[in-house]
Amino acid sequence: MLIKVHGVVVRTQDLSSDNRYVKIFTREKGILTATVMSGRSLRASHTAATQLFCYGEFVLYSKGDRYWVREIALEEAFLKLRSSYEKVALATYFCDVVHEVATTEPDEQMLRLLLNALFAAANGDYDLRLVKATFEFRLAAVIGFMPDVRGCADCGESEGDTFYLDVMDGHFLCSKCRVMRTQLVAPEEEGADDPRMRTILTLLSPAALSAVRYCISCPLQRILSFRLEEDDLVLFARAAETYLLNHIERSFPSLEIYKKC
Ligand SMILES: [Zn+2]
Repeated sequence: MLIKVHGVVVRTQDLSSDNRYVKIFTREKGILTATVMSGRSLRASHTAATQLFCYGEFVLYSKGDRYWVREIALEEAFLKLRSSYEKVALATYFCDVVHEVATTEPDEQMLRLLLNALFAAANGDYDLRLVKATFEFRLAAVIGFMPDVRGCADCGESEGDTFYLDVMDGHFLCSKCRVMRTQLVAPEEEGADDPRMRTILTLLSPAALSAVRYCISCPLQRILSFRLEEDDLVLFARAAETYLLNHIERSFPSLEIYKKC
């Protein structure tokens, strides 16, 4: 039977000069794998329209849980991403993260976030570190790891010069309570040998904390409607990457490539 889905190609694997597998993150069916056959019976444009990052409407032939691409109405290929290795690496990282966390359940928020990040990385109007960090924090929130940003978890203080994001517990500590905790916890109780018991704290300035608060709950179309000074951006970006990667418990080769660009 034929089905119609809308989605982004988040991974490709060439099987031969004519055939490839594609993983498509779709609005209707979450992530699915489809075979693209671009032999004589199908238009060669299928190959171009099933490259990484391509977004559009896909008509698929389905049999059981297998799919074959029959028609594609390409809506956006994000060609401007191809203008630099750095952008390609970053966009690949976005797709790798989604590929890692997406399921076969539809997730409109995650799809919109991915498209938003790809657009922002492609068009060149934004600092890529800001695009990456907002994607990371918002994605963590979308998949159920929204940090509690109301104030210090111990004393409730919500304003101050320095806060620490407790990554694994998903809350904040003010600098006073951070010191108190350090004094209260004996080394043998810290569970340093168990990675799940690790305490990972990342420093946040007031502006970086405001950025976290904003980007996890703002309307998605306005997620990049703020700027940070260089020092604040560095702290915000470090916290975002640390937060997401520790919660999904892995890193990605594409991220390492991006960092080397
Ligand atoms: Zn406190």
